[in-house]
Amino acid sequence: MSAPKKGDLSSTEKELFQVITAGDVQEASRLLGCKDVRVNCLDEYGMTPLMHAAYKGKADMCKLLLQHGADVNCNEHEHGYTALMFAGLSGKTDITWMMLDAGAETDVVNSVGRTAAQMAAFVGQHDCVTVINNFFSRARLDYYTKPQGLEKEPKLPPKLAGPLHKVIMSTSLNPVKLVLLVKENPLLAEVEALDKCRRVMELICEKCVKQQDMNEVLAMKMHFISCVLGKCASFLKEREDKLDGLIKCLLKGRESDGFPVFQEKFVRECIRKFPYCNATLLQQLVRSIAPVEIGNDPTAISVLTQAITGQVGFMDSEFCTTCGEKGAEKRCSICKMVIYCDQTCQKMHWFTHKKVCKKLQEQREKQEAESAKLRENKYGQRNDGVKQKEQQQHSSRVLTPTHTCRFPSQ
Ligand SMILES: [Zn+2]
Ligand SMILES: [Zn+2]
Repeated sequence: MSAPKKGDLSSTEKELFQVITAGDVQEASRLLGCKDVRVNCLDEYGMTPLMHAAYKGKADMCKLLLQHGADVNCNEHEHGYTALMFAGLSGKTDITWMMLDAGAETDVVNSVGRTAAQMAAFVGQHDCVTVINNFFSRARLDYYTKPQGLEKEPKLPPKLAGPLHKVIMSTSLNPVKLVLLVKENPLLAEVEALDKCRRVMELICEKCVKQQDMNEVLAMKMHFISCVLGKCASFLKEREDKLDGLIKCLLKGRESDGFPVFQEKFVRECIRKFPYCNATLLQQLVRSIAPVEIGNDPTAISVLTQAITGQVGFMDSEFCTTCGEKGAEKRCSICKMVIYCDQTCQKMHWFTHKKVCKKLQEQREKQEAESAKLRENKYGQRNDGVKQKEQQQHSSRVLTPTHTCRFPSQ
């Protein structure tokens, strides 16, 4: 069969495009089995069936097309859009991930010079931006599990590739989360293994900086992970309480307001140690962080996370006080001012939170009383028991802690 040309479609191919729009996976599967159907055929705009399926947000259809050999990097669209760009525009993180996993290039730009991540950001699909910016294929890591050149041994023992890849793909960069990922795998939680992984992270970082289209975001991420792995190794070597000790240090809040000073200083130091001083991203980070007094917003980890994942509008979603994972919903039942993923995260934090919990509770109650008073004055109403209770409930919903779940120092 001839190479696909724009708009040159057999009648069955035309039917395939219609079936994709309708979302009929079974019928699409049947059509893809027909002789006169090319999986990478192009409609009049240069769109492939995969691009259509991605744009319409149809995950099962994308999967089917990829199984039939759809070219994820086809670039015949009239404005240079790729399947990954359409996935990002659709706002579907699963499809975006599927395209990346199928080998989609992230650096390709459309006719106005925008990458898939930039296009997704432009239309406000920040979750897709996060997925794209944080993607690092297993294949890219596996390169280091094979001896290169004159090496007798690979830089990364193959058994470490899986656990290390899990750390790299973590959705939260919070150091506590990364240490927990190290801790859960006995192969990784070992000094020699960590040193090897660290070296590989630094090599990838260097590659990201030195490649033609420099990827500073990924370089910074790799460097940061390398620093965390290094810290894990030093705690394993020097401390009796090992990684639990490191987690405690990272979570421990200061007396006055519970702010985790060790963590803040550690993250700042990691950023400062980024080995390529000319990197624009480094300079931006330092400019944002340096003037902030320790204990004030923004925290170094929130600035770093925002730079790496492209996430904005942090206040919209709630992040676990312990591990920084998004979508935490469990509130401390006493102060109601901090949130966690689950009981495990809450338990881990309690040794330090218990010192400020009472204080926070009082603060919240004071604020609630004040806002109730304000409302009373405003409406000139008598404040009977029922009304007061209603108002309290209302205020506790309004009083959402900030993303860092820190406590105003007053
Ligand atoms: Zn958590
Ligand atoms: Zn509490």
